[in-house]
Amino acid sequence: MTAGGAGAGGTASVGAGGSDAAREQEAQEIAGDLGGFVLARGEVDRASARREDPDWITAAWADDRTRVLVLDEGQALIRFGDGAAELVLVPPAQAPEGVRFLLGTDADGTAYFGVVGPPGGLGAGALPPPGTDMAAPEPGVRPASLRQAATLLGDRDAGLFTHAVALANWHERHTHCPRCGALTVPAPAGHMRRCPVDGSEHFPRIDPAVIMLVTDDEDRCLLARNRMWPPRRVSILAGFVEAGESAEQAVAREVREETGIAVSGIRYVGSQAWPMPQSLMLGFRADAGPGQQIIVDDEEIAEARWLSRAELAAEVASGELLLPPPVSIAHQIIQSWYGGPLPGTW
Ligand SMILES: [Zn+2]
Repeated sequence: MTAGGAGAGGTASVGAGGSDAAREQEAQEIAGDLGGFVLARGEVDRASARREDPDWITAAWADDRTRVLVLDEGQALIRFGDGAAELVLVPPAQAPEGVRFLLGTDADGTAYFGVVGPPGGLGAGALPPPGTDMAAPEPGVRPASLRQAATLLGDRDAGLFTHAVALANWHERHTHCPRCGALTVPAPAGHMRRCPVDGSEHFPRIDPAVIMLVTDDEDRCLLARNRMWPPRRVSILAGFVEAGESAEQAVAREVREETGIAVSGIRYVGSQAWPMPQSLMLGFRADAGPGQQIIVDDEEIAEARWLSRAELAAEVASGELLLPPPVSIAHQIIQSWYGGPLPGTW
């Protein structure tokens, strides 16, 4: 694929929803040439069979080769270097008290755990609201969030951090039994909470959300600004899957509700966790038929419009438009349509 990418993107739009070859190319663009989804990486085996083995959990925690990722307000200590970063992991003896969960084991047999330490334990402050532009990381060791650090982390660390943030957020937000209201108790491996009153077992919750790049008959991309976002920030449309709804139905409904556009040719392009606090982002592309008028919903969306590749490149270069951060699935999907790297804010 060329840096300009017009050829690749143009091919991908052939026909209603694209041919098999075009769809394969779309998938390859996202998975390969542009680096794939930042939070869909990992090298550590989740070792799910060990979760039911409390003796193994106890032994692994007693082993000083075990490594622990300590979280504070959704952040972890990160060692930032020149264009790269790594997690600062500690042996169990140096980990604080807190809810603990098994993250997995690596090929060398090292076990990894996460621990939710006391607030402020790492010196992390509260995170800014979603959509806030953040400063790019500078070299040094300090607490940082997934959003700030993930693109700089290697596969192992990106996977551990994503997994740990997801479990930490679940424990923090699901402390009580949904049946009787009693305080639940984490199982030794930290992947389940049990109610001591009625014995019910509760597992991590995930909210599926769809995010979709819609193109028109001129292969222009539909970008919108959410009312909650700062001026100039735009992205592709997204929304939560509702109860009793398929992901594809959610794509069509959200696009229609937010912009009045009817779509067809809905196709899945990939997913990544977005554990802030508990989403799974399901990425799609879809086609808008010709002759449709954009009518924004005035609730969630402030403005929406079609952009050609040339218009997008020019407006991003001039600073008129700001794209979502590279850690987001939105950024990767926009790049896959564009056909090359695009700058995004942190
Ligand atoms: Zn209960």
